Amino acid sequence: MEKNLAKTYSPKDFEDRIYQSWEENKAFHAEVDENKKPFTIVMPPPNITGQLHMGHALDQTLQDVLTRWKRMQGYSALWLPGTDHASIATEVKVVEKIRAEEGKSKEDLGREEFLKRAWAWKEEFGGRINKQIRKLGSSCDWDRERFTMDEGCNKAVVEHFIRLYNKGLIYKGNRIINWCPVCGTSLSDAEVEHEDKPGKYWYFRYPAADGGEGIVVATSRPETMFGDVAIAVHPSDERYKDMVGTNVILPLVGREIPIIADQYPDPEKGTGAVKITPSHDPNDFEVGQRHNLEQLCCINPDATMTDMAGKYAGMDRYECRKAWVKDLEEAGYLVQIEEKVIPSGECYRCHNVIEPMISDQWFVAMEELAKPAIEVAKNGELTHVPDRFEKIYLHWLEEIRDWCTSRQLWWGHRIPAYYCDKCGEMVVAAEMPEVCPKCGDTHFHQDEDVLDTWFSSALWPFSTLGWPEKTKDL
Ligand SMILES: [Zn+2]
Ligand SMILES: [Zn+2]
Repeated sequence: MEKNLAKTYSPKDFEDRIYQSWEENKAFHAEVDENKKPFTIVMPPPNITGQLHMGHALDQTLQDVLTRWKRMQGYSALWLPGTDHASIATEVKVVEKIRAEEGKSKEDLGREEFLKRAWAWKEEFGGRINKQIRKLGSSCDWDRERFTMDEGCNKAVVEHFIRLYNKGLIYKGNRIINWCPVCGTSLSDAEVEHEDKPGKYWYFRYPAADGGEGIVVATSRPETMFGDVAIAVHPSDERYKDMVGTNVILPLVGREIPIIADQYPDPEKGTGAVKITPSHDPNDFEVGQRHNLEQLCCINPDATMTDMAGKYAGMDRYECRKAWVKDLEEAGYLVQIEEKVIPSGECYRCHNVIEPMISDQWFVAMEELAKPAIEVAKNGELTHVPDRFEKIYLHWLEEIRDWCTSRQLWWGHRIPAYYCDKCGEMVVAAEMPEVCPKCGDTHFHQDEDVLDTWFSSALWPFSTLGWPEKTKDL
C-alpha cells in the first residue's frame, strides 16, 4: 500500500489533535517524586487584560524548551501555568466595556455588581489566553492552573499582609503619593513613566510682607501656588541670608508665608529660591516634615482646584493655570517666562500627567525588606544574566522608598483591615472581627481599597505551591 505525505504541511490537521492527546494522557503532569530531582518553573502569569502577543510567544517558548529538556533528562519537571488579575489594567478595561455597552459607570453598578462583570471578563479572557497557550504547544501542567485571585492566592495575600503588619512593615499613613486623576487611583513609583517634555518655567515675585521687594521664585506648576506654605533657600546662599526668617506675601492670595533655610534648594538652579508645597510635591513634602509646615491641598483627586484656590475653585488644573498666570501677569507679579525641558511623570495606563498628592494610603516599609535582597547580590548568591543588570537592580533597591500599596480600585485583593463603625478602631485580621477591642461594638466595615497587583505577584512562586502551608510541593 502506498502512502503519500501531503505536499504542504497543514498544522491544523495535527497540532490540536496531538496537544489534546498529550493533555488527556497527562503527559505534562508533575508530582513530587522521591526518585527524581525536581525542576520547576512557575509561569509569569499573563494579564487577563486581553490576549497574548508576540512577547508572550517568545517567553513561553523559552520556558517550554527548558521544561521539556529537563523532563527528558529525567527530572520531575513542573511548569505551572496561570493568569494575573492585573488590578488597574483590567479594571480600566471592564469600566470601558460597561460604559460602551450599558452607558453606566462602575459607581452606577455598585461594587458587588461591578465585581460580577469583572469575574465574567476573567472567564472570557482567561479562557482565551489558556487556548492560546495550548496553541503554542506549551508543556505546562493544566491540573495545577492558578489565578492570582483564586482562593489559595487570596489566603496567601491576607496572611502575608497580616504578618508584615504585625512586624510593623506595613503601615497606614498620610504621605505623598503618585495620583492619576483619570484612573482615580494611587500608583507606585514603578507605575509612573518619566519623560522630559518641552515646558515653561514662570518666574513670579512674592513681595516682602514689610513692603520690600521680596523674592523671585520659578515654577513649572503655577497652579500649585495656592498650596504654598514657605519659600526655601539654601543656608549658604549669600543673596538671601538676611531674608531668612522674614515673611513674603503669596501674590493675589495675600497669605503670608515664611522664608526658611533648608538643604534642598540648589543655589545654581533658577533663582535659588523655591516655593514649598508639601501637599503636591514629594521633595517639598520632605522639607515640610523637617520644618513642621502645614499641608494645604489645592488640587482635588479629579484634578480640579479645591476651595484653597479661591475664585479658581472647581476649574481644571490646566484651565486654572492659564487664568491664574494671566491674572498674575496683569497684576505685575510675572517677572519672566523661560522655555525649558521639564521632567514629566505620566500614568503607565492612561498616559495622563500624574499629580503628586498627599493621601491616606497603605505603605510597605521597604528599607528592611531591601537589605537581604541587596546582600545576596553583593555576596554572589544571586547573579544576574547579563551581569550589567546587577547595577540597575542594586540602584533600585538602594534608592527605594516606601511602597504605596493601596489602590482606589475594586478589582483586586481587598485590604484585610476593618474599622469599628462606632469608635473607628482599626483591626487587621483575616476575617471581619466580631467585637471591637476598644469599645465593644459589633459593627465593622472593611477598608475600601485593594492591594497593588504586585503584592500578590510577589507571592506567586510560593502561593501556587501551597504557601503559607508547608506543603511537600513547596
Ligand atoms: Zn491613569
Ligand atoms: Zn469600637
